[in-house]
Amino acid sequence: MRVPTLLRPVCVLLSLLLFLLPAACRQSDPPPLQRTELLMGTVVEITLLQSGPKAEAALNDAFAEMRRIEQLMSPQLPTSDLARLAAASRGAEVSAETLALLRRSIELNHLSGGAFDPTLGRVKRLWDIEGDKPHVATAAELRRALRQCGVDKLRIEGNRVIKLVPKLEIDFGGIAKGYAVDRAGALLRRAGIRHASINAGGDLLLIGDRQGRPWRIGVQDPRKPGAVLAVIAAADEAVVTSGDYERFFEVDGVRYHHLFDPATGRPSRRSRSVTVVASDAATADALATAAFVLGPEAGSRLLRQQGAEGILIGADGTPLVTPGLKDRVTWR
Ligand code: ADP
Ligand code: MG
Repeated sequence: MRVPTLLRPVCVLLSLLLFLLPAACRQSDPPPLQRTELLMGTVVEITLLQSGPKAEAALNDAFAEMRRIEQLMSPQLPTSDLARLAAASRGAEVSAETLALLRRSIELNHLSGGAFDPTLGRVKRLWDIEGDKPHVATAAELRRALRQCGVDKLRIEGNRVIKLVPKLEIDFGGIAKGYAVDRAGALLRRAGIRHASINAGGDLLLIGDRQGRPWRIGVQDPRKPGAVLAVIAAADEAVVTSGDYERFFEVDGVRYHHLFDPATGRPSRRSRSVTVVASDAATADALATAAFVLGPEAGSRLLRQQGAEGILIGADGTPLVTPGLKDRVTWR
């Protein structure tokens, strides 16, 4: 359209105003409400883009819900479902919620061809990656530990979990944080919160967007602490990362981290990190762990089969982005 010369300055002014308008609106956003707590062995941060008594109450309830799930599922707490089940040689009754997450974990084990395995408790204990005495497991130790692992060594009867080997230990380390984040998110939504984020040490759930703009989620460079490799634009979904760069120890220049290949009981060597975008955080959490173990090629196939997207960084540092995510990623 041709604009008469006289009107041109007016047009420029108008378009400038339109450009500035969103920035002006942003300044009047209600101040966000944010709180951080140490939970489930990590830092949990919940941010609500609204304040006031209703938001305060919702924030309290969300943290209380995550603490409740920690009590139920932390293997370190002797009264938790998982600790009682580990201590019982034949099996134990567990809560309906633990049972449901175990069913979902077994399903994800099958879907991932065994790469996600919720029965690696003995293997995790052996390496003690995050404990006081990390230890490079020997082949004999691994053979012994792996005999006490495997979803085929579990049966579910009513609300009892039956163990076919006495020392099997269920470990929800690869899914419980995502599950807790989902539950907290459901509570916030029910309380009418429309724009919020929950971050449990890299397990993120985004509720809505940032009032008209997407959330921008930084993907860390696995070999440069603090450096952002890429930014994902996201809204109303979960973004979860599993990497080899936060929980590990090194012996003779070899990195031993906490993501085990169930086939060997050793840290998987196929990836440096995997970030998964999916509709719920429990699924994203388990898929990130599984895809890490599988490596970028097989891992991205698994994500596609499950309707998820992701950025998979291979052992040599090469990133692979699933096709559906390409337009939403900005590289740094
Ligand atoms: P983080 O806990 O650092 O966020 P993940 O979500 O990937 O990382 O979970 C890692 C945890 O999952 C380990 O500490 C361990 O408890 C458990 N785990 C390790 N390997 C597997 C696996 N192959 N399948 C399922 N869980 C695993
Ligand atoms: Mg995980």
